Amino acid sequence: MGDELLNIRGLRTYYFTRVGTMRAVDGVDLHVRKGETVGLVGESGSGKSTLGLSILRLVPPPGRIVGGEILFDGRDLLGLNDKEMLEVRGRRISMIFQDPMASLNPLMRIGDHLIETIMAHERVTKQEAKERALSLLDRVGILPERLNDYPHQFSGGMRQRVMIAMALALNPDLVIADEPVTALDVVIQAQIMDLMRKLKSLHNMALILITHDISVVAEVAERIAVMYAGQLIEDSHVIPLFEEPLHPYTEALLQAVPNVQLSDQVLRYIPGTPPDLAHLPSGCRFHPRCPYASDICRRQEPPQVRVGQGRMVKCFRYV
Ligand code: ATP
Ligand code: SF4
Ligand code: MG
Repeated sequence: MGDELLNIRGLRTYYFTRVGTMRAVDGVDLHVRKGETVGLVGESGSGKSTLGLSILRLVPPPGRIVGGEILFDGRDLLGLNDKEMLEVRGRRISMIFQDPMASLNPLMRIGDHLIETIMAHERVTKQEAKERALSLLDRVGILPERLNDYPHQFSGGMRQRVMIAMALALNPDLVIADEPVTALDVVIQAQIMDLMRKLKSLHNMALILITHDISVVAEVAERIAVMYAGQLIEDSHVIPLFEEPLHPYTEALLQAVPNVQLSDQVLRYIPGTPPDLAHLPSGCRFHPRCPYASDICRRQEPPQVRVGQGRMVKCFRYV
């Protein structure tokens, strides 16, 4: 496909720990088109961050990519050497994390973070890099005089704006944002998501938005990929997914979203607990929690089934 940017096939990333092998990403296929926003959702521990880190080949030990392909613009990132991978990181693909403080040097001024990023990758003078930094700060709603401030002088929401500016500094084709608003209060969350939506169309970049909160991605993403126990169990355009979730787990996730319209709102939880990734259930990994589980679900792994226009669901109910 001409507009395809990222095509992940059969990716497996495991953590080799003393208590066993955690199959955090276990046979994931995911594609992202140029300029597309894909929400990657699932409960805590389902492997979302590991998938994001795998794309950038930044999985920390004892984790390791053990199989599959990550085709980016037609090239398999898993076949690149370290120098080529450094070029891809930052310039072509960048990442925004939940905790901006962890990614910012507390002893470095905000402007220098940006200037350094730009100068590390591009042949520009310091003055040119500074002008670019100022324009980036302006784009994320930070006043120019704050260029010389240190990270601790910013609020959480403002720091996340700085991280967004850093992620955009080299005009990447793909940004992976891992829970970018989870640590922020609701009003700031909405502002940051709004900013990301505007910048995304301005820069025409693709975005993988990782979150455990499916309601966060509803208005931003075009497609949603749902992860459960290291696997994608549903992949669909947003509206059909919300109108008619196919996978029992997606259905449960949507029921767990609090309805802001209800005054007597109760947050519902999905019954049961996510499986231990070192000791996965037989057959369908969701079967111990699934109200529709039948005999075959306990014995065999369900296939990925194509349903309608570009939808995928991994469940025997659709075979
Ligand atoms: P969250 O919503 O909490 O961020 P997540 O979906 O991003 O969760 P990951 O951080 O990718 O999940 O972790 C997936 C699984 O991989 C975890 O449940 C854990 O078993 C394993 N894992 C992750 N990081 C490590 C690590 N550094 N060492 C060992 N196992 C790990
Ligand atoms: Fe439930 Fe079976 Fe579908 Fe798994 S395959 S989600 S257990 S119905
Ligand atoms: Mg995570």
